[in-house]
Amino acid sequence: MTDTTTDRAARSDAPTAEVLDHWIDGAPAAGASDRTGPVYDPARGVVQREVRYATADDVDAAVQAAARAFLMWRDVSIAKRQQVMFRFRELLASRAPELAAILTSEHGKVTGDALGEIQRGLEVVELACGLPEYTKGEYSENASSGIDVYTVRQPLGVVGIISPFNFPAMVPLWFFPLAIATGNTVVLKPSEKDPSASVWLARLLQEAGLPDGVFNVVHGDKVAVDALLDHPTVRAISFVGSTPIAKYIYEHGTAAGKRVQALGGAKNHMLVLPDADLDLAADAAVNAGFGSSGERCMAISVVLAVDTVADAFVDKVRERMSKLTVGDGTRGTDMGPLITREHRDKVAGYVDTARTDGADVVVDGREHPIDGADDGFWMGPTLVDRVPVSSAVYRDEIFGPVLSVVRVEGYEDGLRIINESRYGNGTAIFTNDGGAARRFQREVTVGMVGINVPIPVPVGYHSFGGWKDSLFGHAKAYGPRGFDFYTQEKAITSRWLDPSHGGINLGFPQHE
Ligand code: NAD
Repeated sequence: MTDTTTDRAARSDAPTAEVLDHWIDGAPAAGASDRTGPVYDPARGVVQREVRYATADDVDAAVQAAARAFLMWRDVSIAKRQQVMFRFRELLASRAPELAAILTSEHGKVTGDALGEIQRGLEVVELACGLPEYTKGEYSENASSGIDVYTVRQPLGVVGIISPFNFPAMVPLWFFPLAIATGNTVVLKPSEKDPSASVWLARLLQEAGLPDGVFNVVHGDKVAVDALLDHPTVRAISFVGSTPIAKYIYEHGTAAGKRVQALGGAKNHMLVLPDADLDLAADAAVNAGFGSSGERCMAISVVLAVDTVADAFVDKVRERMSKLTVGDGTRGTDMGPLITREHRDKVAGYVDTARTDGADVVVDGREHPIDGADDGFWMGPTLVDRVPVSSAVYRDEIFGPVLSVVRVEGYEDGLRIINESRYGNGTAIFTNDGGAARRFQREVTVGMVGINVPIPVPVGYHSFGGWKDSLFGHAKAYGPRGFDFYTQEKAITSRWLDPSHGGINLGFPQHE
């Protein structure tokens, strides 16, 4: 959320830049604030528009709109809510290229990757279409004589969603389809770095028939986030972002009495055993290490290679990296730019840190040819071998195209390193030994595990979430846990009058 001097200069060069409004009660809203922030085109290194930063009053206006809409939306039938979701699904699928272009222009990710992000978000919309099945509740007839017990699932009310820059469409889509389908209303605070996708989605929901006020978007920074956390009408918060902010959101949100799910950062390891198919493992490491320029919470950033195959593995990865193209995401390249110049410089600095800490810099991404404008926030794929686990290159979540190789003696050594990491989002093992894979899935302290699969993001009908400092609270995203998160269960014990029952009994209710 910082702003360099160069960035400010770029902003003053664009005095007529368009300003992106909030979306409140079914219409664009300028709000009361005169604070705005820059939205870059990272492939050109220029500001393409400004975005408004909400005040607490602006957030309150969105929450009030959502609270009013809730009184109506909670009573709309399951069938009608489901129909809105089906229409939204059709619109999103047919207009995905339009949204992908927005993602590429503000985030920088290449077109194919942007379409992939939308596809994974669509999975959750499809899951939301199955809402009748997930929210049916339970019924026990004659639990006690003449008494029936049943449970129903009811919406919470207004829920807040706070999302990161790296998946401007998919992460909001992990949450709002289920929140809305189950009868809640939403205030989304997307990343201020690439905010346009969220307003585009709001317009599409309106086109799909969603009543005004059910889905609202407020833009901004910590001011807007804190206003959501403090607002007494907001019943739940779904957050995705870096670990320090996830922890902050969890602590403040729960202290304010809210239900909170807070997904944090990651450092994902891939363990390559000597019996692995090394070509498959090298392909996987390159895809998972450099896809979306490493700006994915499920990116593989560390390969733990067993000594006996490490040299051969590093050679195979290096050979594949030399063929990657880096540049403007609309030109069919493999990798786009990083999100800001500041972030690019920080990522590039880790190459120097690696050298200082005694690692081998096998490929320095700063030297990679670029197919794009000179001022884009470029950083090519980087490979660093023999990284000590004491180095910041190993410990930090770099969130860029820097793949570290740590050499290990064998399975036990690799497992120990993974389990000692503070993060536990995703991990993968590459092996042809079923027994080793089975031990790994039991013993590793990570929330999502791939067996010969490098990015084990669960499909929409299984829930997503890590362990340790990658998830605060226990509530995972989407899948069955998503339906649980956005509903509260009510148990009803019912008896219809029967003249044979009655009388005084002060004892605690027991079965008869
Ligand atoms: P971030 O934590 O900087 O920002 C996330 C959100 O929090 C944004 O909306 C931002 O405006 C807000 N925010 C930032 N600073 C804040 C503060 N001090 N107080 C209150 N709110 C604040 O994260 P980012 O850089 O946008 O995204 C990248 C991070 O997200 C990485 O750490 C990545 O691993 C993580 N991530 C995790 C997952 C997951 O599923 N676990 C998925 C995607 C991204």
